[in-house]
Amino acid sequence: MDDARLTPEEYHVMREKGTEPPFSGKYVNEKSKGMYVCKSCGAELFSSETKYDSGTGWPSFYDIAKEGTVRLVPDESDGMERTEVVCAKCGAHLGHLFPDGPKEKTGKRYCINSCALDLKKETPLLRQAKKQGHS
Ligand code: FE
Repeated sequence: MDDARLTPEEYHVMREKGTEPPFSGKYVNEKSKGMYVCKSCGAELFSSETKYDSGTGWPSFYDIAKEGTVRLVPDESDGMERTEVVCAKCGAHLGHLFPDGPKEKTGKRYCINSCALDLKKETPLLRQAKKQGHS
């Protein structure tokens, strides 16, 4: 997406590695099925199947939709040692990865800003998964 079409908040998060205030994003409590794609480039990032309520105030996922959709970057900003999550396709900042996800799943928590995401009902990956489920 053209940077000029990003809202100030989207620009701050995706281009300046900002973080939206907790419990402020539109997908924090979202329960609909679908695929969360990158707001900036449309890349398929996280399936609603892996979304869970972490209680942190940001949309949280225990896995990525497909190998290679995100890039993990060591991040020592703000006096913390964290792992930044970046869209592998366009480089947009998405959020951070923490090791306190659900233990019965992957143990990972992808803590992602709502404003970096767009929830889609139909995508190629979802169609593929549906097909495989019915074959
Ligand atoms: Fe992207």
